[in-house]
Amino acid sequence: MLMGMARKTPDPSWYAPPKAADPCVLCGREAPSMTDHHLVPKSQGRRQGVKPGDIPTVRMCAACQGYLQKTFSNSELANELNTVEAMLEREEIQRFITWVRKQPLTKGVRVH
Ligand SMILES: [Zn+2]
Repeated sequence: MLMGMARKTPDPSWYAPPKAADPCVLCGREAPSMTDHHLVPKSQGRRQGVKPGDIPTVRMCAACQGYLQKTFSNSELANELNTVEAMLEREEIQRFITWVRKQPLTKGVRVH
């Protein structure tokens, strides 16, 4: 098959192509549905006097974020899983990552 539809890409000096989505910090995939995951849930941050906009976020795919929200309470997320390193150390999260990496990216991943 001929794939010769050379589409001209704009390249003026000011043009920055849309950044390729950063991969998910947990599973490393670039899913079609990516979100900014607040390392501390907004409600917990507010309780500690931090505005939602000041809470650091990381790029996460919808599947991983959904998993975190369904698996852990807000206080666990805020107190124990507030860094990527801490998340990656959890055995159940490692198991989830191993599993989710085998799932098709295009399909909405159902957690539970
Ligand atoms: Zn992910």
